[in-house]
Amino acid sequence: MLTKRQFYINGQWVDPATPRDLHVINPSNEEPCAVISLGDQADTDAAVAAAKAAFPAWAATPPAERARLVRKILDQYNARLQEFAEAIAMEMGAPIDFALSDQAPCLPWHTTNFLKAFETIEWVRPLGPQAPGAAVVMEPIGVVGLITPWNWPVNQIALKAIPAMLAGCTCVLKPSEESPLNAMLFAEFCHDAGIPPGVFNLVNGDGAGVGSQLSVHPDVEMISFTGSTRAGKAISKAAADTLKRVALELGGKGANLLFADADDKAVERSVRRMMENTGQSCNAPSRLLVERSVYDQTVAKAVQVAESIKIGPALEKGPHIGPVVNKRQWDQIQGYIQKGIDEGARLVTGGPGLPEGFNRGFYVKPTIFADVVPGMTIEKEEIFGPVLCVIPFDTEEEAVRIANDTPYGLTNYVQSGSPARANRLAHQLKSGMVEMNGKSRGAGSFFGGVKQSGRAREGGIWGLEEFLEPKGISGYDFTVKDAAE
Ligand code: NAD
Repeated sequence: MLTKRQFYINGQWVDPATPRDLHVINPSNEEPCAVISLGDQADTDAAVAAAKAAFPAWAATPPAERARLVRKILDQYNARLQEFAEAIAMEMGAPIDFALSDQAPCLPWHTTNFLKAFETIEWVRPLGPQAPGAAVVMEPIGVVGLITPWNWPVNQIALKAIPAMLAGCTCVLKPSEESPLNAMLFAEFCHDAGIPPGVFNLVNGDGAGVGSQLSVHPDVEMISFTGSTRAGKAISKAAADTLKRVALELGGKGANLLFADADDKAVERSVRRMMENTGQSCNAPSRLLVERSVYDQTVAKAVQVAESIKIGPALEKGPHIGPVVNKRQWDQIQGYIQKGIDEGARLVTGGPGLPEGFNRGFYVKPTIFADVVPGMTIEKEEIFGPVLCVIPFDTEEEAVRIANDTPYGLTNYVQSGSPARANRLAHQLKSGMVEMNGKSRGAGSFFGGVKQSGRAREGGIWGLEEFLEPKGISGYDFTVKDAAE
């Protein structure tokens, strides 16, 4: 078992002020795989103080030098990708091949896109010809607290720590206590890349402890959070007294509108996308809305696809799904499956209990409910497991109404061979993102929602600007060479 009790503060690995052990459990076999410590107020304060002290020099570091150091993080990362993927597999259960092909590459992907967008930032901008001497100067916001979840752990670190540092902010990362090991490797990469002490700090902890301490801290100017809508609301309230900026990426209940004219891969694609990462994605297409004329054949095909999905431990190679992250999550998913049955949805595959052949590990059967009626608990609430709800519809208007009748608004999906219809729906669906006919987000795009999915925009130029603040200056002499550029 790994011993990882230290925190990374001010360029050094340091002991916790008061050790408070937490075992990280491997969800594939329910055995502890590491021991970490949960930080307390003294650790949070030390990390914030280090970030605050480092801020003036880092903010004044030329952007090109910040970009050079971030590129060095990328070099470190690429050299240790295998180790990184293994940490993710062990602590949160993503199968190793999937961790290597999908989870771990998130960081190089986002970082490359950020670096491209970064080159386009105009740090000092003239307001316009109508206002001579008026400038808008883009400045880093200050010390930022980064709070991340376990489900796509490095994706979230990449979407927060990289743009924060590029923008000139200094940061304190509190990764999920369920998946701290990959974050600690990331801290090593920052260190080995030569990121100056205090620019990047990491304190492990839980939401009630370090998470809340960062949210209320007077020296933290911004919290960037990804996680549950419940915690997002708690953080917004906690942050209100200091009026810090809060960027939130929260839960989802994506609708996937499948029409009779969809291509013949649409059903398979939709089911696989739902079951990927064992259903633990905030943008999972968890409600499959199907045009009535193809409803029965779609349900039959969906069952066939779900039943072809293999299940196995995370460190076993091959294209299977792994366990869900922990017992709490497993219990919660089982509760939803039972609720679906009790409320009268038609269970067509999967169902309660461990899959055949498993008696240890938090494994869940890929499950599909047909004839789900809007308003049922499984249609309304985020399950965060491999459970798909299938709902028939008769008209496009009805499909849009069902899709939009949710407090969430992260990603919706359209499967249709009619470009005019697809475009029309893309405008009508209330969500931060719409993915159509299997086309995933392009390089440099953002990730973000509306309503109770949170309203952050992470990735690309938008994700950089979240960490910047425009300052308006009048009487500015543009002929003087500016240090910020
Ligand atoms: P969670 O909200 O329980 O925890 C997320 C992080 O917040 C953890 O680091 C946790 O320690 C911390 N935290 C918890 N309560 C807190 C509080 N009161 N104050 C400060 N920090 C607190 O979520 P989770 O179970 O780790 O992740 C699953 C959730 O994340 C799902 O709802 C999922 O939809 C959402 N998610 C959203 C996105 C997105 O981009 N929209 C991406 C991934 C996950």
